[in-house]
Formats: sequence, C-alpha cells, structure tokens
Amino acid sequence: MTLPDAKLFIDGALRDAEGGRTFDVISPWTGEAVGKAADASAADVEAAIVAARTAFDETDWSENAELRVRLVTRLRDLFLASKDRLSDLARHEAGAAWGAVGRAHVDMAMEGWDDYLAVFPKVTWERDYGGRTAYGFETLRKAVYEPIGVVAAITPWNVPLYVNVGKVVAALLAGCTVILKPAPDTPGMGAIFGELAAEAGFPRGVLNVVFGSDPALAGEMLVKDPRVDLISFTGSTGVGKRIMQQGAETLKRVFLELGGKSAKIVLEDAPDFAREIATSMLVFHAGQGCAVQSRLLVPRSRYEEAKAILSHSYGAFGENWGVFDEPGHIMGPVVSQRQMDRVMSYIELGKREGATLIAGGKARPDKGGGYFIEPTCFADVTNDMRIAQEEIFGPVLVVIPFEDDEDAIRIANASDYGLGGGVVSADFDRAMKIARRVRTGTMSVNGGMSIAGDIPFGGYKASGMGREWGLEGIEEFLETKLIAWRAA
Ligand code: NAD
Repeated sequence: MTLPDAKLFIDGALRDAEGGRTFDVISPWTGEAVGKAADASAADVEAAIVAARTAFDETDWSENAELRVRLVTRLRDLFLASKDRLSDLARHEAGAAWGAVGRAHVDMAMEGWDDYLAVFPKVTWERDYGGRTAYGFETLRKAVYEPIGVVAAITPWNVPLYVNVGKVVAALLAGCTVILKPAPDTPGMGAIFGELAAEAGFPRGVLNVVFGSDPALAGEMLVKDPRVDLISFTGSTGVGKRIMQQGAETLKRVFLELGGKSAKIVLEDAPDFAREIATSMLVFHAGQGCAVQSRLLVPRSRYEEAKAILSHSYGAFGENWGVFDEPGHIMGPVVSQRQMDRVMSYIELGKREGATLIAGGKARPDKGGGYFIEPTCFADVTNDMRIAQEEIFGPVLVVIPFEDDEDAIRIANASDYGLGGGVVSADFDRAMKIARRVRTGTMSVNGGMSIAGDIPFGGYKASGMGREWGLEGIEEFLETKLIAWRAA
C-alpha cells in the first residue's frame, strides 16, 4: 500500500514544498516508507501565515456565519465520503489496529464534527449588561464575542483525525482562519484537510496546512509570529511548556491539551471486580491515548486477587494483537522508533525501580518488523516511582495498592498531571464524592463516557489549560469586546 502524497495547502492551493523537498512517511507496522510528504520550509510556513492573516483581515469570513456553517458542513460531507481513506491513514500512519480504527480514529472524530455543528447555534455572540448610572448620566453596556483571529493548530500523531477536527472545525465555526500543523508522523491526516477544503470551495487562506520532517520548525515559527493570535496545541507537556514560554514574547493566547497519568480507582465493593480489573489492561491503540487510565489503584485487601486476575487476562489476551489485517485486533504497534525506544526505556526503568513485571515487557519486532511492544503490566508499584509519575504513552499499566478512600484520592492526586480518571463502586454517592475530589479535567464513574464531542475536555495542572469540544470548544476561539454607550 502506498498512501497518496501529502501536499501542503496554502492560500487555497495544494502545493509541493519549496524546492520540491519531501520526507518519507513511515509505517509503524513495518518500519518502511509508505508514502511521501512535502517538507515545508520556513518560506512555506511564512506563506501560510500571510494567507491566513490576509483572509482574516480582508474577507468577510469572520462575519459570515452562514457561509461558515455551509462550508464546514460541506467539508464534513466530503470527509464522510472519504472514510476508507481516513481509515487507511489512521492504520498506515498512526498504526491504528483495524478493530480500533472505527471507534477511536474515524467515527469518534466524525461524531465530534456533528456535535460541533449541533452546538454552534448555542454560541453566545452578545451579552447585554444593561445600564449603569454614574456622574449624572446613564451608560448602556454590551459584550460582543468576536473570533480571535488567526489560529495555529499544532497536533500530535496518536489520534490525529480526532484532534485535528477538535481544533480546526471549532476555530473555523468561530470565525477564525486556521493554519493546521500536524505531527511529522501523520502528515496525511493533515493534508486531507487541504485536499477536501479545496474541493469544498473554501475561500483562499481560510484554512492552510503545513508540515515537515522537523517537528519543531513550523511549530516554533507559528508560536513566535505576532500575526498568529492563538496557538491551540495538543501534545506533550514538555513541548506545551516551551510553547507557553515562546508565546510569551508576543503575549499570545495559548490553549494547551497535554499529557496525562490518569488513575482508575476500583473500590473493594465494585459490582464486577474481576471484570473491572481485567478490562483495565492498557491495550487499545497500544495505550497511546492522552486520557488512558494508566495507573490502576486497587484496595490492598484485594490486591493479590487483582494481580491474579491481571495475570490471567494478559495471558488470555496472548497473541491476539499486532496483525494488520485482523479486524478483531485493537492493538497494533507504537507509532515510531522514537516512541518504541521511549517505552522500552520505561520498561527497563520499572524493573530497576523494583516493580514486579507480571505481563509482557518485551519488544516484538518479529510481529512484522515494525514497532511492536508486548502488552505490559507492572505490579507492586509505589506512586513515587517514575513509572507511576511519568507519562509512558505505550501499552504499560502500573498497579498501585491503596488503604482506604482517602488514600486512593491522595494517590490519584499525587501527580503533576490532571487529565482524566475513573472510579468504580457499587455505592454511587461514595464514587461521586471521590470523583469530585480528584483534581482532573474529566472523571468517569462506573465507566461513564467522559470524552465525546458534545462535552468539554481538558486538563488540570500539567495536563493543560482551556477546553476543547462542546460549546466551550468553540468559545475558546472568541475574544470579548465590551461596548458601552451613553443612553439617549
Ligand atoms: P509532541 O509534543 O512531541 O508533538 C506535538 C506537536 O507539536 C507535533 O505537531 C510536533 O511536531 C509539534 N512540536 C514539536 N516540537 C515543537 C516546538 N518546539 N514548538 C512547536 N511545536 C512543536 O507530542 P506527540 O509525541 O506528537 O504526542 C504525544 C503527546 O500528546 C502525549 O504527551 C499525549 O498525552 C499528548 N496528547 C494529549 C491530548 C490531550 O487532549 N490532552 C490528546 C492527544 C495527545
């Protein structure tokens, strides 16, 4: 399989990079090239900034909501008609297993797109603050909410369509112009926005797409440039901090969706304890999800039982992963050699830190030459170990014992991160009390869905700032202007 060439989209035109430079797109399944992508230069990024700025400043895009809804809907229809292509991209670029593609990669993104269109009529564009009398005359006041301007959307490789939709669709609906900068591992999932926007008839410069082999080049230019008004970033906490620092030069608004190390707390009275523990295995998309519950917190009174359940369930999972053409598989490779090295170094670290490896732990290039790592589980983990504190972003679960509810909350909160989490109990009120006290942006109680396109998503602490999706996700791209006038 060879993917179509990923081209840049700048000022309404699909383009090769300056000088025709390209880089290889590598399949995580084989480690071999599966396509070519344009390798944007600084001049290409500059052209995208000029195009987006001009489209915002010199066209009626920001004022014409009817046009925006029409084109965003047309673009959605073209994406829906391209589902096979989207699946191919998710599988070949991001390493999604066939059984994970629909759910996490394509359907969820397209549902989110529809959710944005559905909530758009509820956006608040004006709020009346009424009159106030001072110094002998009355003033009337009104806040109007205006699109912030040029948005740079910088996105990661793990669920690229979902994150791209989360930013691009919301910013366009809000009335901004956009420069999408996808990760070098998944340029095709960005390039398709350009191809289909061209087909949908978007005005020049409203949406632009740039990418390149250097992960930082385009991103840093966008972050530092005063003509870009807002950076909407999803990625690692390290890069997020850098973006905040570099954005400070131009006092840029930054929106950050960062990493996580979320805790799932299974209480001793969980209705189906064995099932809860067994389904905590971190295998879906090889654990490469920002809000995955990668710390499993289990009552000490049932800790040995939990270990036995996990050993059994990992054993039963066996070799049912890592085959490209197997529709039932939900786990494939990790995305890249870089990611593989990183995850393997954490597995070695876990052993050195004294945790007990109860499943997996090995690289498995024999699965097809790509970046395969066994589903892995460490028990006897204490929360101060680095494998419990740092985001591994691979199929590695750590299991930590707790004494009582207070201890579980303490452990869940003893983390720099605060993205997601879960609690499971037969006692709903008890679970809700815990959910409220864990300092994270989302919590699920007894397996509730805490991520969907119609509800806000985002992090506390080092997991970021701002909210994506839902009404909040669109309103993030608005600026508040207060207009006051003297009453007649
Ligand atoms: P990353 O931080 O390495 O890269 C993210 C994006 O930033 C890429 O497009 C990359 O090219 C770009 N980039 C890299 N250096 C840059 C710089 N100096 N300036 C500007 N841009 C730069 O992250 P990744 O490895 O692509 O993705 C994995 C991370 O993303 C994990 O930490 C994961 O938790 C996080 N993530 C978070 C969410 C969320 O919603 N909170 C969702 C998905 C992924």
